[in-house]
Amino acid sequence: KQVLDFMTSAHQTFSSDKGGANASYIPYLASVPSDLFGIAISFPDGQVLEVGDTKYEFAIESISKVFTLAKVLEEIGKDKFLATIGSDATGEPFNSVIALELHKEHPSNPFDNAGAIATVSLLNAKSADDRWNQIISTYSLFAGRDLTVNEEVYKSESDTNAHNRGISWLLKNSGKMFTDPDQACDVYTRQCSVAITCRDLAIMGGTIANHGVNPVTKKQVISRENVQPILAEMAMNGLYDNTGTWLYNTGLPGKSGVGGGILAIVPGVCALAVFAPPLDVFGNSVKGQKVGAFLSEKLGWSLLNK
Ligand code: GLN
Repeated sequence: KQVLDFMTSAHQTFSSDKGGANASYIPYLASVPSDLFGIAISFPDGQVLEVGDTKYEFAIESISKVFTLAKVLEEIGKDKFLATIGSDATGEPFNSVIALELHKEHPSNPFDNAGAIATVSLLNAKSADDRWNQIISTYSLFAGRDLTVNEEVYKSESDTNAHNRGISWLLKNSGKMFTDPDQACDVYTRQCSVAITCRDLAIMGGTIANHGVNPVTKKQVISRENVQPILAEMAMNGLYDNTGTWLYNTGLPGKSGVGGGILAIVPGVCALAVFAPPLDVFGNSVKGQKVGAFLSEKLGWSLLNK
């Protein structure tokens, strides 16, 4: 009840905020109505609280990187993952190739595009279809329903992803690509185009907050030991070059996507999902960040002040 009151007041307070702009480098994203605004929170007992536009399907974009990371961690284990990809910040924009030049041993982390595409390539798969099926079925387990690609988003991104294809080939050139580079980039583009609602995102995050068990279906989706590496990556790199500011204001691991979604995890307590398309210059939802800071303060969520 108290949580719902604070969610409602956050929605009222920030709905008139005019800061930021939709992502424009992917044509589809530019066309999504900018005033859509939803807030959802998922609790370990299966309850989901929702305020605003929580049923609208939007593109998961970079938040997908969290769930592909989870799948790869399950498969290869956290030590091998750390040695192959890493967990440190690049201090560069999310799609920078400079980071690839600077970090000779491995990409820096699974959330910059270079590390994310390399992470996709790490999955042990027999074919492109097999790689994709493993990814989408993992996402569906996190969400507790069958998720699908928004084909319009996928087409829009595929037509404009020359930069990411370039990253894939640079990875290949430096020995950091573990399958065909075009296949890895295509599967990555597909995973970014998965359609989710704000409610889905809360449940997906709620599975991480609930030690790897989906709070609604009660299925164990990942092992508990992989929760910490996922949250470490989110705390360090979840909002790109604005991650420090986000952590400063919320005290929580988070992850953003250029579709306008933001996910924050309060381990053992709940997961917060916000959807609002206008982004700051780093590619993070402006309202999403404000809601995160507001609710964390009101509800005492910060992990840095226990
Ligand atoms: N598909 C987008 C890209 O690769 C995702 C980026 C993001 O959400 N930050 O450019």
